[in-house]
Amino acid sequence: MKTTNTPPSLPIDEFRATKILATVGPATDSYELIRDVIDAGANGIRMNFSHGTHEEHARRIAWVRKATKELGKPVAIVQDLQGPKIRLGDFEGEIKVTKGQELRFKKDVEYVEGGAIPIQFDLSKKVKRGERMMLFDGKVVTTITSVKNGTVYARADNDGILLQRKGINLPDTDFGGDVITKKDTEDAAFGSTQDIDYVAQSFVQGAEDVRAMRKILRNLGSSAKLIAKVETQAAIDNIDEIIAESDVVMVARGDLAYETSPEVVPVLQRKIIGACRSAGTPVIVATQMLASMTESTEPTRAEVSDIATAVIVGTDCVMLSEETAAGNYPIQSVQAMRRVIKYTEQNRPVAAVFLDARERQATMQEAIGTAVVELADKVGSKAIVAETKSGATAMQIASLRPDGPLIAVTSVQTVANQLCIVYGVKSYVRPDDKHAARKLTDWLKTNKVLKKGDIVVTASGQYPGVVGTTDTIKVRLL
Ligand code: PGA
Ligand code: MN
Repeated sequence: MKTTNTPPSLPIDEFRATKILATVGPATDSYELIRDVIDAGANGIRMNFSHGTHEEHARRIAWVRKATKELGKPVAIVQDLQGPKIRLGDFEGEIKVTKGQELRFKKDVEYVEGGAIPIQFDLSKKVKRGERMMLFDGKVVTTITSVKNGTVYARADNDGILLQRKGINLPDTDFGGDVITKKDTEDAAFGSTQDIDYVAQSFVQGAEDVRAMRKILRNLGSSAKLIAKVETQAAIDNIDEIIAESDVVMVARGDLAYETSPEVVPVLQRKIIGACRSAGTPVIVATQMLASMTESTEPTRAEVSDIATAVIVGTDCVMLSEETAAGNYPIQSVQAMRRVIKYTEQNRPVAAVFLDARERQATMQEAIGTAVVELADKVGSKAIVAETKSGATAMQIASLRPDGPLIAVTSVQTVANQLCIVYGVKSYVRPDDKHAARKLTDWLKTNKVLKKGDIVVTASGQYPGVVGTTDTIKVRLL
């Protein structure tokens, strides 16, 4: 086993708790740029499978792993599957739409003026009369009037234009547990041959979708954890069961705003973060956090405030999309995000919220996590050091947002990577050992990360390597 033997480069008091997940793409398509994104502060790298070929993704995954070795910094790799993101098909120029006009849509038809408009997916089996169909990222709203012989008829509710390949959102349509496309299955199979840590599932509607994806991953022999992207009204309606079924949840604000409406997203964001924290599930806030930085070297005031709010409310992780995948200033975007996070974290008190939102009896794991964090707080510990086999113990403790860093020690490299995007966690790979936490603490002291007089709380178990056996909490005065 390869252990991670690079001590942290920052003093323990300056660790950043809120993590950054950065999407790579054409703007970051070289080893050097990917390394610089990680060096600038990215803790996770997202590969967006709505774009790019398998060869491109494989090449970038290899670059990420090479960079993590060079920098001595683990990162999580996220494979983000496209899901049933339906788009218009190909046609020349723009199609003008006027309010009240009847439009026709059919899979892959050749467009002739006034004729049916091509779409990339056969919607005729999914949509029903009366449902809304939003085109061009919500710019043109239509209402379905009928479905006949594979053609979908809809009435335009406003004036606008359509351009080829623009996105379609169907906020009222029930996909009936069928959100995983053929492309997703093929991409997941490809991902299982690659060194990835997470699979993100798009347009989840309910827990059954998450279970279906888990089954696919299990059959592929994948050890990736699962991120459920919350971006539909159905997912909002079923949020608790989705959180219960997923390893990590993403507030995917881009599509969520089209499927609900922009003004409801901030409230939903808070509610989802709260629900995730109560359930002990890590959460990511995504989309447009620094959108203006695709064109500009400086963020807007509103963007800075948006990142700070996510930090204050207590997300685990914030995400960059086109800022780092397709923008002009990918490295500056990561640096700006990191600066805002650091300032906000260092200048709170920012009340920890949502801690008591849980209504049921705590599980054994939750009870131990609560005791660890309370003890750490009461004894004024510098850090918590926790043994974790599957990552669950570390995720649980992190969800309680301890003040100091949480040092996780695991024997599984993938688990160490997965923990990179979780709040406040720094992970180390060490062999399974009854004294792994103690030994890591000693090593951190030898490397002057911790010093004589520091107090550390450790969480460990009698059965190293067995999931769910954390049962021992210790306070150590170094
Ligand atoms: P996407 O997901 O970038 O894959 O669409 C995030 C979102 O919808 O916000
Ligand atoms: Mn989306």
